[in-house]
Amino acid sequence: MANKEIPYKIYLSECEIPKQWYNVRADMKNKPAPLLNPGTLQPMTAEELSVVFCDELVKQELDNDNRYIDIPEEIQNFYKMYRPSPLVRAYCLEKKLQTPAKIYYKFEGNNTSGSHKLNSAIAQAYYAKKQGLKGVTTETGAGQWGTALSMACSYFDIDCKVYMVKVSYEQKPFRREVMRTYGASVTPSPSMTTEVGKKILSLHPNTTGSLGCAISEAVEVATTTEGYRYVLGSVLNQVLLHQSIIGLETKAALDKYGIKPDIIIGCAGGGSNLGGLISPFMGEKLRGEADYRFIAVEPASCPSFTRGKFAYDFCDTGMVCPLSKMYTLGSGFIPSANHAGGLRYHGMSSTLSQLYADGLMEATSVEQTAVFEAAELFARVEGILPAPESSHAIRVAIDEAVKCKEAGEEKTILFGLTGTGYFDMVAYEKFNNGEMTDYIPTDADLQVGFDGIPKFPGNMV
Ligand SMILES: *Cc1c(COP(=O)(O)O)cnc(C)c1O
Repeated sequence: MANKEIPYKIYLSECEIPKQWYNVRADMKNKPAPLLNPGTLQPMTAEELSVVFCDELVKQELDNDNRYIDIPEEIQNFYKMYRPSPLVRAYCLEKKLQTPAKIYYKFEGNNTSGSHKLNSAIAQAYYAKKQGLKGVTTETGAGQWGTALSMACSYFDIDCKVYMVKVSYEQKPFRREVMRTYGASVTPSPSMTTEVGKKILSLHPNTTGSLGCAISEAVEVATTTEGYRYVLGSVLNQVLLHQSIIGLETKAALDKYGIKPDIIIGCAGGGSNLGGLISPFMGEKLRGEADYRFIAVEPASCPSFTRGKFAYDFCDTGMVCPLSKMYTLGSGFIPSANHAGGLRYHGMSSTLSQLYADGLMEATSVEQTAVFEAAELFARVEGILPAPESSHAIRVAIDEAVKCKEAGEEKTILFGLTGTGYFDMVAYEKFNNGEMTDYIPTDADLQVGFDGIPKFPGNMV
């Protein structure tokens, strides 16, 4: 098997799409820390969480034990519309770099929403429908999550209210229209439609918004509107679980050809695509069956892993959500204008945070112009126009492949290509005009965010 010629694209057949998600927490010796009630500092109970989230998703959120969870048939059927996603051997990129490294990428951009987020959106919409809810609320930054969720909600015929970070709402009118086409209502955040929005606007009248702020608004609407729950597109354990479909498909495809990656790379915003891609491989590492290098890539302008604190913090700016133990820059941290909207969150998945704290994963940060140089090179040789977020992973994959060339090593590099960049042409325009800048926060900038991390005994900041 190992010597079989590797095709440009390794496709699985429809019947090979995994029928269960893999829950990496089951194999972790040190489990991710539980969410805490910010009032009592006690772990959130299922009952408390069910005010915010759908019941079945609460179960998944709290499940640290079951290794595999069945994917309901309705979700499997939806997956068949755009999955399995291709695993591509980047022959053209390898040739361009003249590297002995073998490069593979799993491409998640082949659906209308343009990213991997649809994998979790459809699951969350399904459980909301099954519970008999009228609809869901959410936030969206760059717009990929809102788009994915509006597609999923229209499929199951439930309402979808999206709070969109104001700067994206204004800069990406076409994303907004895609969401409306799928029947969602879209409100720029912060808005006057919520108490928390009014409060934030009175404090910062000119703010262009942030993800943390949009989350606060969406949660408020969900908890005060009958028949609604809140859904989140990243960060949560349940989202990593749904995204494990990426890693499971990848592993199944690689196994067909006896390929074992040495390095697995993914961009990290809240950690869902990276967590999903690495989960089955991390499981092997945790069980002592195989070893891999895992690299999380984040923007230098929003360096949660590489410069953040591992502490309990709020998931949102309005401080209405539970506390999560994670690498965080502080819920008040607002990153400088950066074009990778999906990577601008102040925190990180608690599962990935624990794996990183335990030394099972590495992290690195890259600057925006270097990211777009990689994006351009990739687009020109591999054909796909990558999302700025995804291009963070491309950057580091290229860097690792160049190191292989210098060292004469034939390593196998796998990275997650999370989406396409068609709605990011303002960013590409800036890059093409030579107007793109890199802003790296100073320690003093970061301290402002750290000062807002809640202080209580045991929370080391
Ligand atoms: C949202 C998004 C990301 C980052 O989110 P994660 O939860 O960290 O995966 C990366 N790439 C694309 C295309 C996105 O839309």
